[in-house]
Amino acid sequence: MAAGILTLPCRGNMRIDTLTLFPEMFSVVGDLGVTGRARRLGLWSLHVWNPRDYTHDVHRSVDDRPYGGGPGMVMLAQPLESALDDALRDRGSDEVPVVLMSPTGRRFDQHMAQELAQGSGAVFICGRYEGIDQRFIDRRVTHEVSLGDFVLSGGEIPAMACIDAAVRLLPGALNDDESARQDSFNETTSGLLDSPHYTRPEVYQGLEVPEILRSGHHANIAAWRREQSLALTAARRPDLIEAARLAGRLTKKDEAFLKALKADA
Ligand code: SAH
Repeated sequence: MAAGILTLPCRGNMRIDTLTLFPEMFSVVGDLGVTGRARRLGLWSLHVWNPRDYTHDVHRSVDDRPYGGGPGMVMLAQPLESALDDALRDRGSDEVPVVLMSPTGRRFDQHMAQELAQGSGAVFICGRYEGIDQRFIDRRVTHEVSLGDFVLSGGEIPAMACIDAAVRLLPGALNDDESARQDSFNETTSGLLDSPHYTRPEVYQGLEVPEILRSGHHANIAAWRREQSLALTAARRPDLIEAARLAGRLTKKDEAFLKALKADA
């Protein structure tokens, strides 16, 4: 999947559709916390479709045994395809990424969250069991996205993770839009890890809040936070330092600090 491919021209608010056998799960992003508040503010909308509603047999089957044998069950193509047709009809357009959550997909990251937040939304397909009949994927899926190198029992949690990461970037979603810019991986802060945070009391269990954060000196505080970010990122994610360097996002001052850090080590 090429970078930038999740971006479509923004036609107003972000609309998320999701196909899932467990619609209740989506109340977590739809109703609670930052994402729930953003939805009530009308910054995004959520439409949940259950493939089980698109079955035609008495058992309302959504899965069957795998061809070729082996353990587990496989999701049937037809109920998914009928549910997707309804979702696209309801959107009034099929110009939308159809995203299958899958361990075999491209690993989700902050960059993809930003692309999703800038577009008009997506349809998320949540797999269950061993996965989905490949013919549905071949016919209808435009992107495959993984949450990471581990296997969950369903695509709902990964889909909700993608939705949450994108929604909190929508202007107005956080009480202070500045806070998303200060988060880890944000490209406007060079894609580094976030610096540590402290709140009251000033002394907790004998541990003091760093003096500088109490100084009220904004420039010094910003410089301290930058150094903390650089030090933490250099220790834990040297790959992010290298990426920031290659993208020309490290200042001379940053480089001098990193050099001193290395010399100290
Ligand atoms: N047999 C599959 C795993 C199936 S798990 C494999 O080994 O690749 C059932 C469903 O959970 C998948 O269809 C997918 O939708 C979802 N899922 C599991 N782990 C995931 C991950 N790391 N990222 C995204 N989706 C995942």
